[in-house]
Amino acid sequence: MANLAVDAVKDMTYDAIVIGSGISGGWAAKELTGYGLKTLVLERGKEVKHIKDYPTTTKNPWEFEHRGQLPLEVKNQNPIISKCYAFYEGTEHFFVKDAEHPYVQEKPFDWIRGYQVGGKSLLWARQTQRWSDFDFEGPARDGFAVDWPIRYADIAPWYSYVEKFAGISGNKDGVPQLPDGEFLPPHEMNCVESFFQKQVASKYKDRQVIMGRAAHITAPQPIHLEQGRAKCQHRTICERGCPFGGYFSSNASTIPWAAKTGLMTLRPDSVVHSLIYDEAKGKATGVRAIDANTKEEMEFYAKIIFVNAAALNTNLILLNSTSSRFPNGLGNDNGLMGKYVAFHNYRARVSADYDGHLDSTTDGRRPNSPYIPRFRNVYKQETGFLRGYAAGFNARRNNVTNQDGLGADLKNSLLNPSLGGWSVGSHMMGETIPKESNYVALDKSKTDPYGMPQLKISIDYDANDEKMTQDYIEQMTEMFANAGFTNIQAKDSKQAPGLDIHEMGGVRMGNDPKTSLLNKWNQLHACNNVFVTDGASMTSTSTQNPSLTYMAFTARAVDYAVKEMKKMNL
Ligand SMILES: Cc1cc2nc3c(=O)[nH]c(=O)nc-3n(C[C@H](O)[C@H](O)[C@H](O)COP(=O)(O)OP(=O)(O)OC[C@H]3O[C@@H](n4cnc5c(N)ncnc54)[C@H](O)[C@@H]3O)c2cc1C
Repeated sequence: MANLAVDAVKDMTYDAIVIGSGISGGWAAKELTGYGLKTLVLERGKEVKHIKDYPTTTKNPWEFEHRGQLPLEVKNQNPIISKCYAFYEGTEHFFVKDAEHPYVQEKPFDWIRGYQVGGKSLLWARQTQRWSDFDFEGPARDGFAVDWPIRYADIAPWYSYVEKFAGISGNKDGVPQLPDGEFLPPHEMNCVESFFQKQVASKYKDRQVIMGRAAHITAPQPIHLEQGRAKCQHRTICERGCPFGGYFSSNASTIPWAAKTGLMTLRPDSVVHSLIYDEAKGKATGVRAIDANTKEEMEFYAKIIFVNAAALNTNLILLNSTSSRFPNGLGNDNGLMGKYVAFHNYRARVSADYDGHLDSTTDGRRPNSPYIPRFRNVYKQETGFLRGYAAGFNARRNNVTNQDGLGADLKNSLLNPSLGGWSVGSHMMGETIPKESNYVALDKSKTDPYGMPQLKISIDYDANDEKMTQDYIEQMTEMFANAGFTNIQAKDSKQAPGLDIHEMGGVRMGNDPKTSLLNKWNQLHACNNVFVTDGASMTSTSTQNPSLTYMAFTARAVDYAVKEMKKMNL
């Protein structure tokens, strides 16, 4: 009997466990198996195999029952997720429905999730900018949160490393606050976007309009072909899953790469409940999980554990990992776990018309658009609010279709629209300040379908965000007016936090165990065989999109963890 029990434990024992198979978990799996570690990836959602499990990827608009729209009934049942622009008939199977996984909104928060192999990597908008020392030095300079324990030089080689594999397109723009990377050829601007770029350059010394940097293969390199990925076809229906692997997803890239080593066991439908802490060893020895189909409780064991369940779920799992040594959550000696959560302020948009360049139009589609890097408070504090915002920008020529008429006339008019003027649009992407009062915690009075406490979310804007929103509207309005755009309209949607889908923090990095949870290697100060390399680990939020930084932190942390294991002969 004793031998049987030993064998059973052996069967459940790996070198490493990764929780979550999204952008960061996929990278952890690839790197750990790349170093020869037998790795178990536990994913709460269903299996999504590249190509095979993209049911709508080749559908034409008329092949959808509702022509791509969602019926009112679905929208009414899903008021939260329906706010996300990427949720439609072609993608609804990749989003968590509101009723399936409840959470407690102490303050309004739109929590957008994708529970499946690949996580939100299937759905993301693929914008990938490096952060810079203006970000990593931000908290120390401006006196908020805690100092980051790293600087740009620590992470720069890891950005290069992940960029080459993932495939990032862009220009080398030489903007100090947006370091250049290892770029594939950029997408092109259209003539009005280039016009605006020149207008801004001629009128503002501190502002640039550049082409967005995006995780699209514009010119496949041998490393991409080796992954079975091909050139992006500009279909612009990426969020349905790309059969070409033209954009980066875990499903097309890191997960199959890890699988090829023969060292990865991927277990979908496995909801991680908590980490197991062994007091005598002073380490985490494994995880408890629940089979999503049978509700069977399981335990798995490993020498190191990477928690990559996405920012808020990582907080939930760690807070739920209690023991007599850690009654408030694994590694949570200072009581700060779940606090200092921040996000991106995406509230405002400015749009306008343009009556120039009427002799030109656009042709084809482009899965990307121009970007205006942060220009406020970069070198010094110059406004009444802290930090700054970046902005997206795009211009499009309008078609004017005459929908009057019938039969051949109508068909002809729809197929041969006449051209109207140009429309231009911009949206803000503001940094928010992590604060103790913006937090997540467990609500033990409410449980989810797996018996786990629900997450209580209490996150809000503050006066800094209000001033920043106003400034974006004023500055973008001025930039548009200076370019000769007309009919300028600004809108503050006042959307709740969450819809930016860039929530970060709660398990922040820092030098001092008294004020942070993780050290500079993303390793829990108080339990050194547990690593957190998703958004939960972020000390502050920058204005740039975060996922490339999660990839780089993950690869860097695995490299460190494996070297430490070797030193300790593990
Ligand atoms: C529409 C949209 C547009 C976006 N655009 C951009 C963009 O342009 N640029 C950018 O940088 N980011 C963007 N994002 C955000 C980006 O998708 C996330 O930052 C990124 O996916 C986070 O990676 P992750 O590994 O932390 O989490 P995810 O990719 O969400 O993966 C987490 C995984 O963990 C699993 N999991 C959760 N809980 C458990 C549990 N208890 N047990 C087991 N598994 C669990 C989940 O099912 C999921 O598969 C966008 C997101 C969306 C939805």
